Amino acid sequence: MVILAPKGTKDIFPQQVYKWHYVEKAFAEICDRYGFKEVRTPVIEHTELFQRGVGDTTDIVEKQMYTFMDYGNRSITLRPEGTSPVARAFVEHKQYVEVQPSKYYYDIPCFRYEKPQSGRLREFHQFGIEIFGTTNMMADAEVMALGFDFINEMGIKDVELRINSIGCPSCRNIYREKLREFLNPKYEKLCSTCKARYEKNPMRILDCKSEICQEQVKGAPVMLDYLCEECEAAFISVKNNLDSYEIPFTVDPGIVRGLDYYTKTAFEFVTNSIGAQGTVCGGGRYDYLIEELGGPPIPGVGFGMGIERLLLVMEVNGVIIPEPSETDLFIAFIGEEGRDVALKLSHELRKEGFSILMDTMSRNIKGQLKYADRLNVKRVAIIGEEELSQNEVSIKDMVTGTQTKVSFEMLKDYLK
Ligand code: ATP
Ligand code: MG
Repeated sequence: MVILAPKGTKDIFPQQVYKWHYVEKAFAEICDRYGFKEVRTPVIEHTELFQRGVGDTTDIVEKQMYTFMDYGNRSITLRPEGTSPVARAFVEHKQYVEVQPSKYYYDIPCFRYEKPQSGRLREFHQFGIEIFGTTNMMADAEVMALGFDFINEMGIKDVELRINSIGCPSCRNIYREKLREFLNPKYEKLCSTCKARYEKNPMRILDCKSEICQEQVKGAPVMLDYLCEECEAAFISVKNNLDSYEIPFTVDPGIVRGLDYYTKTAFEFVTNSIGAQGTVCGGGRYDYLIEELGGPPIPGVGFGMGIERLLLVMEVNGVIIPEPSETDLFIAFIGEEGRDVALKLSHELRKEGFSILMDTMSRNIKGQLKYADRLNVKRVAIIGEEELSQNEVSIKDMVTGTQTKVSFEMLKDYLK
């Protein structure tokens, strides 16, 4: 019986992996420019990190987590997102004693038990950044600026930044009441998930993917009309900062984040080009998360960006990712003595930084040349009896077919 990969996971072969290298390198590079440092945390965490009491009403916490008991009878969860683990590590290792704010980035696999479809997987990957330690809206704008620049640098033209404020616990509670009042006569029409959300967290209904629910929330009161003075000032400030950055955005009162710990700024980078899974990047401010995790009252802001979705949008936008650098030389040989010299030469050249290929399947010389051709190698060095006696190799240009001779000593310089 052939064993297949679990549903909703993907194997990434060399034909694709260079694209991952490309975006990963670019992301690390832009984080460097913005002063974010990489942080690495475990794939597994204690379930309580994500399920912090009864207040959690999000899809992720309620029904998307990969949770299991380990042999020590502890409930363990494969991380469904990056922010809580980084906040946990920040508190655990008292990183707040360092100079603030702390700016982190990460490039991680995440796990959610979802219905797999294009752009929606059970194991997916995220780029994320977080700024801990400042309530200044410059931080929110900086997070969005990095996302905006990165998406642009990846050659994507059709992504739009949408921002909203989801207020703080004080103004949000008033708004929630207003929203319930509005939804009350429509309650029976809501999907079963949203019926449950009605009591626990009616704002999540605004984000429901069901069209029927989307129909019901049309004309609903918006959070922006109920912001308290502080949240209102913060929202004005974040918009001003985005203007100073010269970053275009639209205000979208429908943006509510998928996790309950968000406050004030909420934003998404959205495209229409990949269907329903159009949110490439989502983020916002979470001023109470670190405190909830037992740390000091330290605010935070950040985003998570789906790498699979990013690559999908790049493809739809016709972005050509450069293929990895080609092989410098294929060394073909005849006979045992030829093989010994080929091994020695390849070793020396690889140590010098050249990319060298050889046959390891006992092909004859004709087979080796055919193999080199199939690998798209542009240059082949041949070491036969004659070459051995002269201490040189014959170099065949696989494109033009021309041959030249180069001495063993000069090979390095020739390749340069
Ligand atoms: P969605 O509304 O599409 O379910 P979300 O709000 O659950 O997204 P976040 O928790 O904000 O997503 O995660 C950040 C980003 O990670 C998303 O914007 C998306 O690009 C990506 N992402 C989320 N879930 C998945 C998944 N199951 N498969 C692939 N990418 C995902
Ligand atoms: Mg989701």
